[in-house]
Amino acid sequence: MSARRERYLEEMGLAPVWKLRREPAIHEAEPRAPEPEARMQEQALAPATSGLLDDRTARILRMEWPELKSAVAGCQACSLSKTRKNTVFGVGDERADWLLVGEAPGAEEDARGEPFVGQAGRLLDNMLAAIDLKRGENVYICNVLKCRPPGNRNPEPFEVAQCGPHLLRQLALIKPKLILAMGRFAVQSLLETDASIASLRGKLHRYQGVPLVVTYHPAYLLRNLPDKAKAWEDLCFARRTIAGLQ
Ligand code: URA
Repeated sequence: MSARRERYLEEMGLAPVWKLRREPAIHEAEPRAPEPEARMQEQALAPATSGLLDDRTARILRMEWPELKSAVAGCQACSLSKTRKNTVFGVGDERADWLLVGEAPGAEEDARGEPFVGQAGRLLDNMLAAIDLKRGENVYICNVLKCRPPGNRNPEPFEVAQCGPHLLRQLALIKPKLILAMGRFAVQSLLETDASIASLRGKLHRYQGVPLVVTYHPAYLLRNLPDKAKAWEDLCFARRTIAGLQ
């Protein structure tokens, strides 16, 4: 283990317990999906919302980056537009292999317009560093919701449905190799399930055909230190999965 990684593991409260090791074979939760080319065409046709595409969704799913960013910045599709300070579009490498998806902006993110910049964000940066990744380099970070729910309340289904096409378009433009879904809310919305994180961890899932790995939310890890070890396992699993795809 490199000194740098060891230092980050220490900051995460994981060293000296954690050691990188070869882990068991990857278990797919779903049958394998089509290859990327077919996958992206399919994505344009199959948004998270089932049934026929409404006009707004269809328009969003055709947008390029500049249009999509403006659409999010000016979005008034739900009442969160009335209470937000800033929209929080997402940040990072627009051609990243890794797409990290959280729940929704908190107060600091709302104030700064960037995801994961608070205490949870600092932990996330350390977690990334522990697997030799860095915000902005081969990593893109965003949330299911682009606006802060007041008082950090849970997102409402209507808000998720209205914001869904934005995330779907980000996914189609980035074409990541892997999605890391962080926290119960992101996991349950992307996988459309009520299952617990504990029951979904350690298996390979798919969202719109893209391999998806489930892990705990960094804010949860700040309150539940022993589960950091599980998050480390998830990161190693995600890294092995990406390596296996190349
Ligand atoms: N929690 C999230 O899910 N996203 C953020 O951007 C910040 C905190």
